[in-house]
Amino acid sequence: MKDLLSLNGKGALITGGGTGIGLAISREFIEAGARVTITGRREDVLREACRTLGANASYRVCDVSQTATLPSLVDGLESERFPLDILVNNAGINLKKAALEVTDEEFGRIIQTNLNGLFALTREVGRRMVARRRGAILNITSMAALYALTKVAAYSASKTAVLGLTRVLAAEFGPSGVRVNAIAPGFIFSDMTAKALDSDPDRKRRVMERTPMGRMGQTEEVAAAALFLCSDAASFITGVNLPVDGGNSIGF
Ligand code: NDP
Repeated sequence: MKDLLSLNGKGALITGGGTGIGLAISREFIEAGARVTITGRREDVLREACRTLGANASYRVCDVSQTATLPSLVDGLESERFPLDILVNNAGINLKKAALEVTDEEFGRIIQTNLNGLFALTREVGRRMVARRRGAILNITSMAALYALTKVAAYSASKTAVLGLTRVLAAEFGPSGVRVNAIAPGFIFSDMTAKALDSDPDRKRRVMERTPMGRMGQTEEVAAAALFLCSDAASFITGVNLPVDGGNSIGF
């Protein structure tokens, strides 16, 4: 089993890998033997993350919402570094606002990052994986793709679309041996949840009430599931959206 979970010699690209869940996934993958490139918009954050991750980590400053730049990112990584065996689409932004207050610009900004950028990057990496007939892609969705969380209309629309995309790409890439899965994190300690929950004690109470395990999750708990889904231990698993949520998605 330990061998099946090994990522020895594999190359991985993890968007938003400098903080939170992405950073924990990067750490887990490097411990499993992978070489990892992380991306994000803030160079200082990425540099500091790489310092803690060690010699098998590198970074590229890249805004995933700037879709025209993504083909050259992937070209550069594959020609200068290593073939990408794993892509983790983790970068994401949220906007907490009642639907009636959300402007077109705000709605579009969330969709551009969480959905359009994710699709454009996956197409570029997926094209190479399909040609090589191997690869694993992991999308990070959300509870907002599974039930009605209020005040996150754009975020929920983007994550629900990513869930549909996960299934379609799993079906299209499956014949080439490329797997596409998703993880739906529940409420995990990170900068994003600090912003969304700390200012809203009533929302936090409701989250806890419907979480059978009665606590928030740790980023490392999402990373362990990510390692499983991207490793050979999950060699016949594709098209799933695995909740890592302490039961939040099935709680009453
Ligand atoms: P963070 O805010 O810590 O992580 C988001 C990361 O994405 C940051 O590193 C950020 O870096 C990067 N990012 C944001 N926008 C862009 C962009 N345009 N281009 C490139 N990188 C970008 O929060 P989390 O770790 O919590 O979130 C990670 C993922 O998990 C997100 O997709 C989120 O929706 C999802 N999620 C989180 C949950 C939680 O409870 N924490 C629950 C459900 C889902 P930078 O700002 O430097 O660009």
